[in-house]
Amino acid sequence: MKNNFYMEEKNKKEIVTRFAPSPTGFLHIGGVRTAIYAWLWARKNNGKFILRIEDTDKEREVSGSIDHIIKSLKWVRLDWDYGPDKEGPAGSYIQSKRLDIYKKYADQLVAKGLAYADPYTEEELESFRKKSEEEKKPFLYRNHRPENPPVWDGTKPLRLKITNIKNSEWCDVTRGNLKAGAEALDDFILIKSDGYPTYNFAHIIDDYEMGVTHIMRADEFIASTPKFLALYEALGIERPEFVTLPPILGKDGKKKLGKRDGAKDFLEYSKDGYLPEAMLNFLAFIGWNPGDNREIMTKEEIISAFDVKQIQISGGMFNEEKLDWINHEHLKKMSDKEQQNYVISFIPERIKNLAGYNEEIVRKITPIIMERIKKGIDMNIMSENKDLDYYFVRPDYERDSLFFKSSKIEGDKYTTLAQYLEKVIEILQTINDDEFNKEKVKEIIWPYAEEVGRGDILWPLRYSLSGMDKSPDPFCLSEILGKEETINRLNISISLLKK
Ligand code: GLU
Repeated sequence: MKNNFYMEEKNKKEIVTRFAPSPTGFLHIGGVRTAIYAWLWARKNNGKFILRIEDTDKEREVSGSIDHIIKSLKWVRLDWDYGPDKEGPAGSYIQSKRLDIYKKYADQLVAKGLAYADPYTEEELESFRKKSEEEKKPFLYRNHRPENPPVWDGTKPLRLKITNIKNSEWCDVTRGNLKAGAEALDDFILIKSDGYPTYNFAHIIDDYEMGVTHIMRADEFIASTPKFLALYEALGIERPEFVTLPPILGKDGKKKLGKRDGAKDFLEYSKDGYLPEAMLNFLAFIGWNPGDNREIMTKEEIISAFDVKQIQISGGMFNEEKLDWINHEHLKKMSDKEQQNYVISFIPERIKNLAGYNEEIVRKITPIIMERIKKGIDMNIMSENKDLDYYFVRPDYERDSLFFKSSKIEGDKYTTLAQYLEKVIEILQTINDDEFNKEKVKEIIWPYAEEVGRGDILWPLRYSLSGMDKSPDPFCLSEILGKEETINRLNISISLLKK
């Protein structure tokens, strides 16, 4: 049973969502998908979207992460109303700059007798843990709760005193009713001895202070939810809606895609030539769809179709082939000019260094390239296969490769083919320079090709232009190379045949 509470809530309160990454390394696709869902829900409801930096674990912090997070989100065109670079009604949106706020709430809990200083040393805690292990019982700190804890002066961790040990039950927007036994509740740390709050404490204070109405996050937080509920209760505050997102699975549909097993630095996708709108489209669809058969959608269409009710429970697959397909579909929607600029920006260095390289030709071959690539870096494969060189420089020819594999030519085949190609040149000469396009070339060559045998004309014509067994058709190539170069290359073939 999914609850409808949030739908009613929606009419009352401004929807506020947040993405709350920890700056502990490169952002990967799972994180961005979480950000996208939170952002979509806020934008869909004309609410607010917050980017909050959860940097309270100083040991795990990796420098440069905040910058990377901002760049990644901006790349997929997410925008935030408040964030590390945009202070707002809640002050700073970087947790390390909000320590006095956590302290204030901690003091309140201490005053109410709901939090206490943890007097134990590491060694003492370890011995409690060992004992539980020996007794094959789960370790619960609350079984060792000190009777007369010292006054909390900040040098010891501060723990929540859970007064009401009970089973927990709650409703999750996507998962429905969830429950956990009393063993899920324990006196957890609110403030560490280094003065920083734990995630468990800080996020609850922040979500409250920032007016967050919906928490989108991964399923790994379900296990800690009973503790969060106990803290909301201790603080006497209302909890936001929990929207647990489905895990992202690898291509085999089983393994969770983790930072370590394949999920790469998100910005790498931009370097590979994926379009931000394609990426947004792709990620939004891992775990959600609009409920009809649309698969290629713009940002605006996704915002208007998005609904947290339709987020699925089961894992969504990360399928790079699907990403490629979506990217290709978005590439096709670009204007000619945009496509040309895209292709120019991804042309491999080796091609740019060819003697005859020029952007005019790149513009002409853009439609051909667009048909063959799914993303910019696929042009590297075209380059490695020598599928781009012949547009800029004359190819090397193999004399015998000039013959069609089912050639009908008999007798002195070299002389005959040379004569055919001379005739082709003669025909091409009749086209005016300004009319030399693929339609015209086809129209004028076709009857002759039909007359002597199609393959025996079209194959050597095409091969003369590209020097490749596989390439676009000869009419297309003629137009790109132009009349003069087309005839020049045919003449090279002729002299090769006459050798
Ligand atoms: N800082 C937490 C993380 O990066 C965020 C979890 C949440 O969204 O509450 O995993």
